[in-house]
Amino acid sequence: VIGDINGNIMPVKAGNGGWGEERVNLAEQSLLNKLIRRSLVRNRNQVEVLQADPNSPLYSVKTFEELRLKPELLKGVYNMGFNRPSRIQENALPMMLAQPPQNLIAQSQSGTGKTAAFSLAMLSHVNPDNKWTQCLCIAPTYELALQTGQVIEQMGKFCPDVKLAYAIRGNRMERGAKLQQQIVIGTPGTVHDWCTKYKLIDPKKITMFVLDEADVMIATQGHRDQSIRIHRQLPMNCQMLFFSATFEDSVWRFAEQIVSEPNIIRLKREEETLDTIKQFYVNCKEKEDKFTALCNLYGALTIAQAMIFCKTRKMAAWLTESLTKEGHQVALLSGEMTVEQRAAVIERFRSGKEKVLVTTNVCSRGIDVEQVSLVVNFELPVDLDGNADNDTYLHRIGRTGRFGRRGFAVNMVDSEHSMDIIKQIEMHFDRKIIKLDTSNLEEME
Ligand code: ADP
Repeated sequence: VIGDINGNIMPVKAGNGGWGEERVNLAEQSLLNKLIRRSLVRNRNQVEVLQADPNSPLYSVKTFEELRLKPELLKGVYNMGFNRPSRIQENALPMMLAQPPQNLIAQSQSGTGKTAAFSLAMLSHVNPDNKWTQCLCIAPTYELALQTGQVIEQMGKFCPDVKLAYAIRGNRMERGAKLQQQIVIGTPGTVHDWCTKYKLIDPKKITMFVLDEADVMIATQGHRDQSIRIHRQLPMNCQMLFFSATFEDSVWRFAEQIVSEPNIIRLKREEETLDTIKQFYVNCKEKEDKFTALCNLYGALTIAQAMIFCKTRKMAAWLTESLTKEGHQVALLSGEMTVEQRAAVIERFRSGKEKVLVTTNVCSRGIDVEQVSLVVNFELPVDLDGNADNDTYLHRIGRTGRFGRRGFAVNMVDSEHSMDIIKQIEMHFDRKIIKLDTSNLEEME
């Protein structure tokens, strides 16, 4: 598992994270995660639960039956291939479905089942006989709202009387005509307009409010204030559900503004380790030397699958072109591609159509390819001050869990400064990085 392991979103660093490359666009990253996700991410950590009322009993479920869902909804859940609740769902679902309603703040990395959980909660919550909007869900972007809407539609496939409307740009509505759809999903600006300007939704009739991807939301200009404005119009007894993949202080402060008396559920991400990784460095002078070293390594790269990290788009493009000229088949993942193009490249790489993927740091986040066994740092990860960026190093080559497969990392060293960085990384992780002679690859055996 390489890159940002298990496809979590990393917080945006101040400035450029020292990489002189594209900024991490959280919303795009989140969308990419959704597009390439096939199943739940593995996480063996315990869920932490903090109850608003510590004296009330704590329910958790091991099966969907225990939730006593409407049969047509249960059918929808099974039809999606879900056999049992995910870690976070075990606790979150009973809380979200409890009577009287309870507020919830839930945090876990992407891919742990949050979207499925609140989709189920909304579908279960609504009264299909009431032809007005009862659940409001806001997401940071048009595309993310569409993705979540699709989950709701798929899960609600056998609930024909429950209808969903998308409050997203371009979806023009007649002023004042009250919506009949029980669930509305959209972006904060349009949802706010639909409530106030167009009066399509009566916010006083909303009994469940879901705020998804709170960390992405606050990273998007204006979304935080719009969300708070929507929230202000909702009735006091409206159930508030708040989700985030990460939890910095800013997210927490936002949560406190939206959710009173919250129950809190958190699932810590699994730690990555370098324990099963053999690390090397190769001395080179120029980028051409690095390229030669890489070509010497090429046989090893293609035994399994390899990822090569560059610092800039430009370097990644140059390297890809040079490797291609040598007759190697490589894929390039680059920041100028659309999210859909990136998803397609990752898909091809995953399925083994390409054995080698050249990428920049930002792009690789979200790729979780078990089969990658070799990572090349064509350029070493450094922070703004030019020091070793240990977190990024770990994200690129680390693995989660004790059963992480063995792997190799090769670092290209082209100056005294980069040798310094290698030393810093060695010190930080207390793991040796061994010198490798690429014209004699015995060390790698
Ligand atoms: P998150 O919102 O935390 O990113 P999702 O709800 O999108 O997570 O779930 C991640 C993936 O796992 C999706 O492909 C989803 O269909 C699947 N999934 C969610 N819940 C379950 C479950 N209980 N069993 C199996 N797969 C699930």
